[in-house]
Amino acid sequence: GTMGNDSRILVFVRLRPMAKKEKEAGSRCCVKIVNKRDVYLTEFANENDYLRLKRLRGRHFTFDASFPDSTSQHEVYTTTTAELVEAVLQGRNGSVFCYGATGAGKTYTMLGTVDNLGVMVLAIKDLFTKIRQRSCDGNHVVHLSYLEVYNETVRDLLSPGRPLVLREDKQGIVAAGLTQYRAYSTDEVMALLQRGNQNRTTEPTRVNETSSRSHAILQVMIEYRVKDASMNVINRVGKLSLIDLAGSERALATDQRTLRSLEGANINRSLLALSSCINALVEGKKHIPYRNSKLTQLLKDSLGGACNTVMIANISPSNLSFGETQNTLHWADRAK
Ligand code: ADP
Ligand code: MG
Repeated sequence: GTMGNDSRILVFVRLRPMAKKEKEAGSRCCVKIVNKRDVYLTEFANENDYLRLKRLRGRHFTFDASFPDSTSQHEVYTTTTAELVEAVLQGRNGSVFCYGATGAGKTYTMLGTVDNLGVMVLAIKDLFTKIRQRSCDGNHVVHLSYLEVYNETVRDLLSPGRPLVLREDKQGIVAAGLTQYRAYSTDEVMALLQRGNQNRTTEPTRVNETSSRSHAILQVMIEYRVKDASMNVINRVGKLSLIDLAGSERALATDQRTLRSLEGANINRSLLALSSCINALVEGKKHIPYRNSKLTQLLKDSLGGACNTVMIANISPSNLSFGETQNTLHWADRAK
């Protein structure tokens, strides 16, 4: 949808293939995507009457685009993020979020694998290609930061250590001491991000698995010089933020309650605060509650205003996840 102040939020849905585990558990597919746009939630295998489903509330959704399980990483990147990379090269800020329950495909979409690079890596690859096409004078400088918000604590994923403190300076809110990695080519980036991902917080009981409560934020800063109308050289900076959000499963159950009443409860404050900010932006409100969490403070200059925002809602096809899928689709529907 269109928001005030020239900002936009585009909402996409990506269905992942049925997992082996889900097949073995005897699950059926309960999601059907038609025309790369319409998403239908079906309860029964023979529920092929989509016209009827259209009339059932909460069973039919449409988005800017919806990706069936056969969609390649490249198509997801091109449709959702390529335009933002172009905008960042014009000195604008933008952000791309993956939202969804644990196991729905957020990390696959964002990071991907060595054979199937995700949006984070494809964006950087595209960025370097576009910079090369644009200038051969080495004018553009690219820096990367990769950080985590876990339990309202901010950590540097490229240089793990003590938690980082957020400070407000003239550039906005910054994490003091955060590594700004100067990147020269794509080749080094995948390895760097994979290493960073291994530094994400794990749940004590499942040491090899990334915590479902951790948000990973990749920030790509592009700095370059241009001449203004009176031929003065000025510095321009564009920033692209790519966010692999925490699992949405617990946040949704408590969506209706206020943040204050959830103090101390085992919920994800940053995820709820993000939802509040997005809803306020979509409703065209003047006051956007960025201050309510670490995640929204960090993204204050990349969300709303003159920024482009992209939301990718990830879902599983299995009827065993019907409830989570329905919640995710409702959430995404409200972000339009
Ligand atoms: P999340 O980060 O949302 O918890 P993951 O990205 O880790 O979920 O995905 C769960 C599993 O499903 C992983 O094994 C992942 O490789 C696989 N997967 C997710 N999306 C896809 C996809 N589009 N194609 C193939 N495999 C996928
Ligand atoms: Mg993940």
